[in-house]
Amino acid sequence: MNESAQRDEMVLLARSMFERGLTPGSSGNLSCRLQAGGFLMTPTNSSFGFLQAETLSKLDDAGNHVSGDKPTKEDFLHLAMYRGRPDTKAITHLHSTYCVCLSCLKDIDETNMVPAMTPYVHMRVGPVAAAPYKRPGDKSLGPDIEKLAAKHSGIIIRNHGPVVGAQSIRDSVFAMEELEEAARIFLLTRGLDVNFLTDPELAELDAIRLGR
Ligand code: ZN
Repeated sequence: MNESAQRDEMVLLARSMFERGLTPGSSGNLSCRLQAGGFLMTPTNSSFGFLQAETLSKLDDAGNHVSGDKPTKEDFLHLAMYRGRPDTKAITHLHSTYCVCLSCLKDIDETNMVPAMTPYVHMRVGPVAAAPYKRPGDKSLGPDIEKLAAKHSGIIIRNHGPVVGAQSIRDSVFAMEELEEAARIFLLTRGLDVNFLTDPELAELDAIRLGR
């Protein structure tokens, strides 16, 4: 996909998420790698509902701002995931309600934040790890994300929100939507006697995910 198509794709998918209430106000950000090198990113203080293809932020491979509006202040989260997971082509980060609820729970497995009740997140994203809470803008979260990203394409930052990396903007958005839905299902069934997927069933899904 060329840069112009990636810009259009980013605007279209961001608006779709905004219209469905997946990330409020000016929260959330998207990025993707460009074929010619560098990254496209959503601008600081922009709303997913009103992005413009021509003013998206362009960064070089080192993360320096090259053109367009200034990038999101959370650019360092994206750059950290690309460093930790070099095959990642696009990243979605939201402040989506159910993942944020999950990010605030105390008794939860930090190596697998969304226990598998249905196959989709495990098949598409794999186990989702927790990154520690840091105040907004604290760049020491970058090394935490980089380290976790080496093993996880999905991370939920404690008391903040989810980050998902994938092979295209569309894949990262769809995987994020699956994650948000799985978090919703998990929270709706909390306290009920749930039939979680078994280890052999998870191994089957691992084979599908890793065989891609
Ligand atoms: Zn955020």
